[in-house]
Amino acid sequence: MPTIDLIALDADDTLWHTEYYYRQAQNHFVTLLAAYHVPEQTALDVLHRIEISNLTSFGYGIRGFTLSMIEAAVEVTGGQVRGSDIQSIVDIGRGMTTHEIRLLPGVEETLESLSKGHRLMLITKGDALDQQSKVDRSGMSGYFRWIEIIPDKTPQAYADILKRHDIPADRFVMVGNSPRSDIVPVLDLGGWAVHVPYEMTWAHEAAVELPEYSRRYFEISHIDQLCDVIRNIEQISL
Ligand SMILES: [Mg+2]
Repeated sequence: MPTIDLIALDADDTLWHTEYYYRQAQNHFVTLLAAYHVPEQTALDVLHRIEISNLTSFGYGIRGFTLSMIEAAVEVTGGQVRGSDIQSIVDIGRGMTTHEIRLLPGVEETLESLSKGHRLMLITKGDALDQQSKVDRSGMSGYFRWIEIIPDKTPQAYADILKRHDIPADRFVMVGNSPRSDIVPVLDLGGWAVHVPYEMTWAHEAAVELPEYSRRYFEISHIDQLCDVIRNIEQISL
């Protein structure tokens, strides 16, 4: 009898590159503001502060990020930013909704292999429209029994998903790149968590303390190690 009922995977920067596109957009934003003599670090610092403060109003994702870029541009230029530059910022945001989906190496092979013996779920947070579009464009949706797009990955959000699918936390594994979103809330609930760090992490997602030691916590350097870790978890939890 398998001891794990459900393996859930994060999408952004776990299955495919995402943060890369945010950094690229930020670079465009900084270049645009250089024409107003705004130093790069000032532009980035103000943008980050406004992004965080806007999370409660606009949520995670491209729309909130675009509105934050506009608000930051207004602030750092003292209200002098031109309408044509606001249009350019909106265009930067729109461009982010259609970029190609670049899978991380080993993702498809791992999903194929895991889906043979386990039920898989994709859990991603952010704008429903954008996240659904990425899932569709990725070509990976067929490997997942369920796809959950939620506003934020809080312990309550995970608890609600497990309750809805009638899965005990100790038979649930979450896999992802973000300590804040994918690891800590799941360990807090009594589930298993596998951290696969991505090459860059948005400061907000990294800014939590990982548990010093938990027998239900694993870190791997590459997703192709995931099948071995799942086998290991199933041994330990027997
Ligand atoms: Mg992620």
